Amino acid sequence: MCYDGDMMKRLIKPLLCLLIILTLTACSATSENSVSFEAMDTLMSLKVCGDNIICETLENRAHELDERLSATNPESEIYQLNENGSAKLSGDALSLVKRSLELSKELENSFDPTVFPAVCEWGFISDEYRVPDEKTLAQLAEKIDYKQIAVDDNTVRLPKDVAIDLGAVAKGYLADECRTILADSDASCAILNLGGTILLYGKKPDNTPFKVGVADPENPAGYFGYLACGEGVVATSGGYERYFEEGGKRYIHILDPTTAKPVDNGTLSVTIFSDDGVLSDALSTALFVMGIDKAAYYQAHDDFDFILLTDDNNLYITEGIYDDFTLAEGCDFTLHKISR
Ligand code: AMP
Ligand code: MG
Repeated sequence: MCYDGDMMKRLIKPLLCLLIILTLTACSATSENSVSFEAMDTLMSLKVCGDNIICETLENRAHELDERLSATNPESEIYQLNENGSAKLSGDALSLVKRSLELSKELENSFDPTVFPAVCEWGFISDEYRVPDEKTLAQLAEKIDYKQIAVDDNTVRLPKDVAIDLGAVAKGYLADECRTILADSDASCAILNLGGTILLYGKKPDNTPFKVGVADPENPAGYFGYLACGEGVVATSGGYERYFEEGGKRYIHILDPTTAKPVDNGTLSVTIFSDDGVLSDALSTALFVMGIDKAAYYQAHDDFDFILLTDDNNLYITEGIYDDFTLAEGCDFTLHKISR
């Protein structure tokens, strides 16, 4: 199977999805501590105004969740579930599976963890990219359906040929867990970049807002603008994070659950700002699939804001954060304010 151990050597993505523009400087009462490490197939970097031990606790939690939630780490519970079709899950894996089921229902046809076999078939796990034929894609699409995930107490079961991937929400879950750890500590402020999903915690020592740069899909080392915000989780999904090109066409790692094909709707990146890490992460993926045409989803929900960039240089920003966004110099995107 494509998610066997040998096949899962993935390149660690550079930490470019979002750039933190301002650092935590001059922590007054406590010292600033920082640490960088690899977890969940990405580079994470934590900055905390607080004891060094907090950074260690946060890092340990990241590794622990990696071992429980990753679909590509043979040590993980999700990997075991996919391999064996059934597994008893720990509290973390179980609660994220259950939350993913709720989100799949809410975000029907745009977010679905059972896309995993299709993600594998396209080669996004093995890095052996290929365009599957239409018949294979139709068969894969048929199998994408979160309703096939059966949860009985702490045991989860999957039918044959169905496998799950919590990759679209795992970093958001980690962000929520890190916030709980920070709240139980004496840390006054933290910026945790969990590989593009960013937890902003507390208040900066100088009381100014956090500033988060949003990666420019054309040049992910740079940013097309920045968001000034308070506490919350900022999550970005972009096709530029993982893709391949064949016959002059780009195929990205975010799939449309209805077709098992990479999304190709003109969306270049989606950034979500919300208090809830799992929601931010799920919505960044889901709104990418929906595209601006279905972004009316926003009007019916008041618990998030988004920034959505399309390939015709239009930038859509919801009213809750519109005035807090600054376009980078030289960027000539046309801005649109989306109201509720
Ligand atoms: P993110 O970077 O948060 O948008 O998550 C993207 C990852 O989630 C991909 O690399 C896939 O492993 C998985 N994925 C792709 N498409 C979907 C989808 N429509 N719903 C849920 N997970 C997806
Ligand atoms: Mg996501």
